[in-house]
Amino acid sequence: MKKIALHWQIIIGLIFGIIWALLSSKLGWSQFTIDWIAPFGTIFINLLKLIAVPLVLFSIINGVTGIGDPGSLGRMGAKTLIAYLFTTILAVGLGLLLVNVIKPGELIDQQSRIDNRISYELWAESENLQIKDGINYLHDPEFKERALEITNLSKAELSSVDVDEKMLEAENAKSSGPLKPLVDIIPDNIFKSLADNGLMLQVIFFALFFGIALLFIPNEKSEPVTKFVDGVMEVFLKMVELIMRAAPFFVFALLAGVVSRMAGDDVNKVLEIFKGLSWYSLTVAIALFLMILVVYPLLMRLFVRIISYSAFFKAIGPAQTLGFSTSSSAATLPVTLECVEENLKVDKKITSFVLPIGATVNMDGTCLYQAVAVVFLAQLHMIDLTLGQQLTIVLTATLASIGSAAVPSAGLVMLIIVLQSVGLNPAWIAIILPVDRILDMIRTVVNVTGDVTVCSIIAKDEDMLHYEKEEAVKP
Ligand code: ASP
Repeated sequence: MKKIALHWQIIIGLIFGIIWALLSSKLGWSQFTIDWIAPFGTIFINLLKLIAVPLVLFSIINGVTGIGDPGSLGRMGAKTLIAYLFTTILAVGLGLLLVNVIKPGELIDQQSRIDNRISYELWAESENLQIKDGINYLHDPEFKERALEITNLSKAELSSVDVDEKMLEAENAKSSGPLKPLVDIIPDNIFKSLADNGLMLQVIFFALFFGIALLFIPNEKSEPVTKFVDGVMEVFLKMVELIMRAAPFFVFALLAGVVSRMAGDDVNKVLEIFKGLSWYSLTVAIALFLMILVVYPLLMRLFVRIISYSAFFKAIGPAQTLGFSTSSSAATLPVTLECVEENLKVDKKITSFVLPIGATVNMDGTCLYQAVAVVFLAQLHMIDLTLGQQLTIVLTATLASIGSAAVPSAGLVMLIIVLQSVGLNPAWIAIILPVDRILDMIRTVVNVTGDVTVCSIIAKDEDMLHYEKEEAVKP
């Protein structure tokens, strides 16, 4: 019997997970699913994350020593960063274009928009913010009663929605001085950075520094270290291979848990969640799918040429499906590395340097989604963002996506900073929170695909992509 490809196995697990969750919700078994099946999904993510942090460390050291001399390293580092920045800005641009054309916020019924507007004006007043545009419902006698109702309502709502914790996280992430972000990249204790998943940039800094220092050491001394690092990497990759054998089952459990938590014991709740946010979700999804299905293949066609459309997706299918199921580019990284090395035949020297950095700093899907979300929320509250404000969004969304950890919901937390940068209420993340998980899954696929695309382009440019066309037609 022909073996089913891994990404199809994962997709089957994913579909069964969703079907199981919907069925169990209908039969009133959601709690059972959450208690007895979902934990296997958590185990899966834990296993992958367990490998991701040391893998980033060893992989980058390995990459740097593989490249060999500081000159080539500098050249490749610069190329990598420019390419990552380019795809990120392309993604924000696409997001902004679509959200300004579709205008999902204006497609919400007028009454709720007026309510939202009133609550915005209330908030702006409490914050002593000047509202530039003319609308003023708050002090319009006709809306006086509604304004009062909304004041009470929003008080009750705010106490029920727990955004405080997320606000605090963002507050910590926000710089308290112009050079704070730079200072934050330099660790004072590498073990602390390794112990905290959010401090991946520090791990990258340490790994680069360690790798570069290794290059300056005489061969007989550096060789054992290089060999050790290389060996350790092999062990980690083997661990991933072993975990991935059970991936379809784990993905089943993961999806069953995610959907069960959404649906509870009422299947209709899933539909309810999307009501009102359907245009927003659709805009984000369309833009993300355009990135996956059009933009990246186009970039591959322009810069890599030899890899066909279908071969590209076949090669990276496991990483994409895993990104979708786990919502974490860090957890997906081990598999991304394997797909790019084994299937796209990119030299390990390139992958082990470019991909771990990409998983941490290059999040095209995240910044695209942040741009759409901010403009949508502004439209919903009848606020016209100026061109200057939209440009600010490009800048802050780019920075926020670099600063986002590669774990579920990180993009949502960093959205707070983007909202604040254009004078909007950060608590609005609560509005889009209900649909965030599913959008997170799609944007993680974009994040992963973006890394793979840039990695292949750099490899081609460095003549380190050993892909043979005829391999694509092999079963
Ligand atoms: N989940 C995303 C990732 O890991 C980050 C985000 O929340 O946008 O790539």
